[in-house]
Amino acid sequence: MPRCRFCGKKSELFLRYARLPLCKKCFIAYYQRKVREALEKFNIEKDATIAVALSAGKDSVALLHSLSALREVKAIHIALGIEGHSDKLLESCKKLCKDLNIELILFDLKKELGISASDFRKINKKVCSVCGTVKRYLLNKIAWENSIDYVATGHNADDTASAILRNFLTGNIALLARIEFFSPKDEKFKLVGKIKPLYRTLEFENKMYCDILELPYVAEQCPLAKRAMQNEVKALIDSLEKRMPEIKLRIITNYFKMKPLFEEYAKKERKVEFKLCKQCGYATVSDKCKFCKTIEKLQKVRNKTKSF
Ligand SMILES: [Zn+2]
Ligand SMILES: [Zn+2]
Repeated sequence: MPRCRFCGKKSELFLRYARLPLCKKCFIAYYQRKVREALEKFNIEKDATIAVALSAGKDSVALLHSLSALREVKAIHIALGIEGHSDKLLESCKKLCKDLNIELILFDLKKELGISASDFRKINKKVCSVCGTVKRYLLNKIAWENSIDYVATGHNADDTASAILRNFLTGNIALLARIEFFSPKDEKFKLVGKIKPLYRTLEFENKMYCDILELPYVAEQCPLAKRAMQNEVKALIDSLEKRMPEIKLRIITNYFKMKPLFEEYAKKERKVEFKLCKQCGYATVSDKCKFCKTIEKLQKVRNKTKSF
């Protein structure tokens, strides 16, 4: 084993994409530095309140811990009510936040709205898409109501590289143009800021960070998720990575060079202007927001099944 590039002691791991031999201690410092640099790049004010969208998976767990090493941070967990799965996630989040002494804001979908993620497939086969709509909306609303300035999510470089390639392959230029690591707060439309501080961090690094520090996380995948295309694109990039260790970061860098072109094209297709939802008063592009429409459909389906 070569020596650690930073401290000169015996190295314990090797980051191929950066040709970097490190000891475990220096890896943790290297990881936290990347998170700090991301916050500096986003120009996050020193006194801004940040909450991590904590799922209990390795990505958001590593994000919460590394952010808490840098500044004060809160966590938001949405309990989705998936039998045999959601309880494990909730317990893991509670333990982590207790260990790290971090305030955990909880939202229980079943208690608050009378629905659970298991109902999603009744209104749409694409369960992950419904879940995404519901989670995005709720995270913003919960953060807004708790005077949080930024919600940080654990999207890593693997997620971003595959999202870029997927949208490119399917020709969804509007979605492609919208990939972003930072979006500012917008008081007028009750939108909190969104940040993805792990955008240059690879999935295996998040796992390594949690394992080295022995942080509790749940490795089990969501039993409702059907992400055939997403998984295939990920596998494709993973196989290319063997020959080009830096491929994921390169896809992201190249995307940002071309992003203005996609934005220009997407603008021609459809102009997006925000309004406030007539029902809930949060941001939308039509009269009623996607979340309100989704919840209405779900409650209707639920009431139907109830009467049988
Ligand atoms: Zn070292
Ligand atoms: Zn609404």
